[in-house]
Amino acid sequence: MTFERSFENFVQILSEEDVTPEISPSALADLAKEFSLRSIVAIVSDNKDSDKAGSADTIVPLFGPVPEDEPPAYFFKRDMPAKKTVIYNIYLFGDGSWNEEEYKGFGLIIDILSFHMERFLLANIVKQSALTQYLTGLPNSGGFIVFAKSLFETRAIMNYDSFFFNLKNFGLFSRRYGIAEGDEIIKRYANKLKEFCQEDEIISHFGGDNFTALIKKERTKQFLKYLSGVPVYGMKNDKKEDFKISAVAGVYAVDESLKEPGQLISRAAMALAYAKNEANKPYVFVNKAMSTKIYRQKQIEDRYEEALQNDEFRIYLQPKVDIRTGEIVGAEALARWFCNGIVLYPVEFIPILEQEGMVATLDLYVLKKSCEFIKGWIDNKQPAIPVSVNFSRKDLNYKHLAREICQIIDESGVDRKYIEIEVTETASEDERILMTTFLNKLKDMNITTLIDDFGTGYSSLSTLRDFPVSIIKIDKSFIDNEPLNDNDRIVLRSIVNMAKELGITVIAEGVEREDQIDLLKEVGCNIVQGFMYDNPMPKADFEKRLGKGTYA
Ligand code: C2E
Ligand code: MG
Ligand code: MG
Repeated sequence: MTFERSFENFVQILSEEDVTPEISPSALADLAKEFSLRSIVAIVSDNKDSDKAGSADTIVPLFGPVPEDEPPAYFFKRDMPAKKTVIYNIYLFGDGSWNEEEYKGFGLIIDILSFHMERFLLANIVKQSALTQYLTGLPNSGGFIVFAKSLFETRAIMNYDSFFFNLKNFGLFSRRYGIAEGDEIIKRYANKLKEFCQEDEIISHFGGDNFTALIKKERTKQFLKYLSGVPVYGMKNDKKEDFKISAVAGVYAVDESLKEPGQLISRAAMALAYAKNEANKPYVFVNKAMSTKIYRQKQIEDRYEEALQNDEFRIYLQPKVDIRTGEIVGAEALARWFCNGIVLYPVEFIPILEQEGMVATLDLYVLKKSCEFIKGWIDNKQPAIPVSVNFSRKDLNYKHLAREICQIIDESGVDRKYIEIEVTETASEDERILMTTFLNKLKDMNITTLIDDFGTGYSSLSTLRDFPVSIIKIDKSFIDNEPLNDNDRIVLRSIVNMAKELGITVIAEGVEREDQIDLLKEVGCNIVQGFMYDNPMPKADFEKRLGKGTYA
């Protein structure tokens, strides 16, 4: 067979090959005979000329066995994509050698091989980058799942604990060192994690400061300790600053209840949320109570829309009373959910609806119902009083909220003066801006607004100064002490005086005791709401109460 024929054969077979490094012996069979070829071994390395730190060379057998410690008869060098270089080492049978023509001819074969290698390397890079986090080089969520799946299939996963962790104060060092150096710090941190991780374990980086890991159970304690302070450094003004990064972790100790690999992440993440928001601990293990809670949350989310349609939400009204006269001067509308025979209170569902961005529809529903109540009173020639409706801070992201509130009131045929909108103090600067805009819009529409739970927010004094509200409702915690002391008196009096000077009315909530009434009277806070007078009650009961007139 001529060289041309063998070469054609080789190209033909190679182009049909799957992208694996080994070349089937059939492709090279004819050529091997002609060139007394025993083995071809490719050595892939990062381009030595590039400034990238070199990683270890990868040896890829292409044809025949890999000879041990034997110098090749010939070698060829080719450049590859991604700044890689491949050296093809050629081993011949016996002490065979080539003439110049043969050497050149083989160069052609190497070019083709090289093309094949290129395809292989590219495919590999694509695969790699789909499984690695670009910044830290740790596996990403894809890499984590691939690894977890293989452990899951062999049930070896039972020997592991699954972690989801965040860095404490991640935002702080980005701010201190800037984004670029912040990235470097994360990389250093990731390298430290790599040092801890053993070959049959995985630590992955989902991006941001979200990390997950599968660590063998016997090393869990050690890992938690490791996470409590990983030494890194940051560069600031050319100076090296050493510090430690500690993490907050959720841990799922894998057990028989694991149904699919994704739960390794979701369960650990659930424990992490718990560790951060409720336990305020460096780590928390998944426990039964937590899963029950999650289950309930899920149910609330799933049933909410339907419940709203089915009128499962009822509006309870709690009187606001003028303590000088015992007269009912207003009411607050509070939501109750009658769900499958049990009553759910706002603490159970409001935070979940807020988290899921669903609370606005409820608040607007409560507003609508409240308007209907008032309309009924007016139509029946009963005494009508203003009703206040709570709007969540999370509603502020809803762009046309103010307009919609106004529309609902107007469409009900009730005068705007009968509705008051309650909002709580803001937690951040961004919210503050949104809140001010919202309150101003309502003010322009002649709708009264009120700050709820006053004194518990992050900047109550500036709230008082800046927010265009006409009423504040002092939080219950200001009158909780039993007995009330001089400091309580001083603080309350100051708030009331300051508010009065600003033309703002003060209400007290959560009033349960006679001595609280006495103090409130003394400092000049005359409108109160609390169990002392009445609990929130259904509409019919409230109307009966209204009919009875003033509280004795
Ligand atoms: P809030 O607006 O500050 O409402 C006052 C809460 O204190 C009500 O709890 C009320 O029942 C309770 N309360 C009234 N008097 C007393 C008392 O003398 N002592 C004590 N210990 N508590 C008293 P509720 O109805 O469970 O509502 C809790 C919170 O849920 C409300 O606090 C409000 O922020 C929120 N909420 C209720 N309904 C809605 C709603 O429709 N939409 C939104 N966004 N939030 C709502
Ligand atoms: Mg309220
Ligand atoms: Mg309140």
